[in-house]
Amino acid sequence: MATLEIKDLHGSVLTEDGAKPILNGVNLTVRSGEIHAIMGPNGSGKSTLAYAIAGHPKYRIDSGTVLLDGEDVLEMTVDERARAGLFLAMQYPVEVPGVSMSNFLRTAATAVRGEAPQIRKWVKEVKQAMSDLDIDPSFAERSVNEGFSGGEKKRHEILQLDLLDPKFAILDETDSGLDVDALRVVSEGVNKYHGKGGKGVLLITHYTRILKHITPDYVHVFAEGKVVESGGAELADELEENGYVRFTGKKEAAA
Ligand code: ADP
Ligand code: MG
Ligand code: MG
Repeated sequence: MATLEIKDLHGSVLTEDGAKPILNGVNLTVRSGEIHAIMGPNGSGKSTLAYAIAGHPKYRIDSGTVLLDGEDVLEMTVDERARAGLFLAMQYPVEVPGVSMSNFLRTAATAVRGEAPQIRKWVKEVKQAMSDLDIDPSFAERSVNEGFSGGEKKRHEILQLDLLDPKFAILDETDSGLDVDALRVVSEGVNKYHGKGGKGVLLITHYTRILKHITPDYVHVFAEGKVVESGGAELADELEENGYVRFTGKKEAAA
């Protein structure tokens, strides 16, 4: 049993005009085996939370803690976070021209496992994972994220999740929403990962529709930089019906 604890987290985005406080006291605990959905309106700070935990240099933690089994995640380097069992899709580069997916994934696996996987075994592992996830074999030879469609970026993310096999996955589904293909890839990938057992998932999303395919144990509403309400899957149904107006005073759809 592993636990990821976010305690009274305050954080800022660093802009050219200075630091802009966004996270406003986030409290959240995810245990292995649980799927938590974080839902909130545009601009509420959901992606900031993910970036801040990932250790992105454009974001600064002002106070509070993030603990993985009692260990201080915020004191760790990005590689140490990965080795400790935390998966954050955005801690990896957006585009890496000239580096194939296969090599990129091997480097990531080396960081997580502490040693480079044997080439032959690795090739087999990647092939198996790609076939399980219904990914075309040519994908392995493509440059990382170069010219990837939204759906292909999501395939990349899910492939990493499968191969790196972390204890906790934090997935930010972005506010622009996913097309039907990407939605299927993410849902199937997350369900497969969760189905291994003992995995904690923090799924950040603006829309309720992905929750038709992934059943969360807990739903948290995020507004103005913190969790303002927590409940079960029924909270997502309420959001689908009424949007975020109860939490923000502004009408915004969550469907
Ligand atoms: P969400 O993911 O919930 O839509 P974000 O975390 O992306 O919200 O954004 C929270 C707030 O931080 C917004 O007001 C946004 O404009 C601001 N913000 C985020 N990133 C930056 C940035 N790089 N520069 C300036 N402002 C930013
Ligand atoms: Mg949930
Ligand atoms: Mg976002």
